[in-house]
Amino acid sequence: METLLGKTLPELKEWVAEEGYPRFAAQQLCEWLYKKAVASFDEMTNISKQMRAELNEKCLLGRENYQLVQTSRDGTRKYLFPVKDGRTVETAMIPDLDRRTLCVSSQVGCRMGCRFCATGQQPWGGNLSAAQILNQILSVDERAELSNIVFMGMGEPLDNLDELLRVLEVLTAPWGLAMSPRRITVSTIGIAQGLRRFLCESECHLAVSLHSPFDAERRTLLPGTSGFPLNELLAQLRTVNWRGQRNLSFEYVVLAGVNDSPAHIDGLIKLLRGVPCLVNLIGYHPHAGATFERPKDAVLLKMRDKLTQAGILTTLRASRGMDIAAACGLLSKTKG
Ligand code: SF4
Repeated sequence: METLLGKTLPELKEWVAEEGYPRFAAQQLCEWLYKKAVASFDEMTNISKQMRAELNEKCLLGRENYQLVQTSRDGTRKYLFPVKDGRTVETAMIPDLDRRTLCVSSQVGCRMGCRFCATGQQPWGGNLSAAQILNQILSVDERAELSNIVFMGMGEPLDNLDELLRVLEVLTAPWGLAMSPRRITVSTIGIAQGLRRFLCESECHLAVSLHSPFDAERRTLLPGTSGFPLNELLAQLRTVNWRGQRNLSFEYVVLAGVNDSPAHIDGLIKLLRGVPCLVNLIGYHPHAGATFERPKDAVLLKMRDKLTQAGILTTLRASRGMDIAAACGLLSKTKG
């Protein structure tokens, strides 16, 4: 059965023509799917009764309710969405003053196997479709209040690039959700081919998971980066004009006694010299079976201050949703 959620306006135009529906039906479908975000064909009241009946018979709209939502003491909410074969993905909504940021999953599990990440330790369950990614955004209770979307949930977004780019088009197109690309951030460990295409085809912000300024160590912590050394990654990033409106940030999960030494700080300063970027330091969040430890706050503050003194804009990311395992690196539940 054809799923309509996730189709672009040109694709819907083609589809309605093939099905023998009037051309204007494509625009109507876009309005209902994306702007009004209805969850059933029956709610599409300006579409003829006959067409709605046919849509119900031969198509899926693509919306699924969440199975569960948990709310943290700090207001962070974690949603559980069904995807396929009894599997589920998690989506986190993080409130912060007047911002509502949704952290979206792009895959069921993740093939990158980062050693400190709970998702990377789960069995691989495949890519999410554009419909399954968009459903997370359209089906949370805070849909109308969302200010930012970050692709930092389960999965490596650039490992599911076709679907990611389709979602970004729906989110930013005037016929879709018409969001500014400046409100969307895609986070990646850096995959050579995928990164090149993402940088060319999207204007959204980029967050790169760094975690070590040293290649060999980074390959050990992030096995998925093998074959794309740091000098090539940086060379590719330097081809982009980051002084415009598009932002580049580096995520750095700090693991006690592993990547928090003075040599690491010096290495970071050398690596990022002259790159207009923000460094986000994230104190590691331990999970069941983890072999790493969270550094003391004093270590994190010292790293932040040293990098800042060296002219690198650096922030310490606050831990959010710890009590419901919604914090960075903890999203992991792939089975209902
Ligand atoms: S940190 Fe990201 S890329 Fe690495 S295993 Fe976890 S979800 Fe995958």
